[in-house]
Amino acid sequence: MKLIIFGPPGSGKGTYSSKLKEKFGLEKISTGDIFREEIKKGSELGKKVEKYLREGKLVPDDIVIEVVIEKIKNLEKFILDGFPRTVDQAKALDSMVNIDAIIKINAHPEILVEKISARRICSNPKCDGNYNVADIRKVIDGVEYILPPLLPKNDMKCDKCGSPLIQRDDDKPSVIMDRLKVYEEQTKPVIDYYLKKKKPPFIEIWMSRPPEQVVEKIVEGLRKLNLVK
Ligand code: ADP
Ligand code: ZN
Repeated sequence: MKLIIFGPPGSGKGTYSSKLKEKFGLEKISTGDIFREEIKKGSELGKKVEKYLREGKLVPDDIVIEVVIEKIKNLEKFILDGFPRTVDQAKALDSMVNIDAIIKINAHPEILVEKISARRICSNPKCDGNYNVADIRKVIDGVEYILPPLLPKNDMKCDKCGSPLIQRDDDKPSVIMDRLKVYEEQTKPVIDYYLKKKKPPFIEIWMSRPPEQVVEKIVEGLRKLNLVK
């Protein structure tokens, strides 16, 4: 099973792909993660891509495509996260493998802003504690959102290590709107390319419930396409 997942910042796409990885033994390939790791290692590739990531610019297609091709060439089961980001990347991917389905996570921008601004992380750099203080219950354009908060047990202290919780710099509302706009602008041509081709099929899911339920809906979609039992 070969999948692509698209979803705006804050849509929980990373969580869903991790759960799909566990459930179906998919390799999760996130180009953003790969680049950050290579930069940390100080590898040749890391050095090449560092400035693009620092400036929030797209890494040139030839570099990204080579990295992804190398990763997936011997894989039967994977989920791509963060790739393809341009039509040329999509074409390169198509020329190499048959993707079985595209999972597209939808959410209204105001929900994403509310959810992302409510995100709190543990201030201890060695801890991955992650929380959310928003309690969202509302209907927008006929989509009913029920997204309960994920609060720490003790007042704004991490459950895992007791450190105070903080907000990431790029989780502030002004930055979030920019990130959402960039996502829309980047993703639209790629989505349009696949819609026009009518292949692979889309599984479109609204981020209107907690992650477990979103994943259930994704699995339902995969079942309908006979990709899983
Ligand atoms: P975000 O932009 O939400 O932080 P990622 O973690 O997916 O997302 O990507 C981080 C950075 O890595 C991007 O800003 C870009 O510089 C680079 N990158 C990741 N994937 C790609 C891709 N498919 N094409 C070009 N650049 C990419
Ligand atoms: Zn912690």
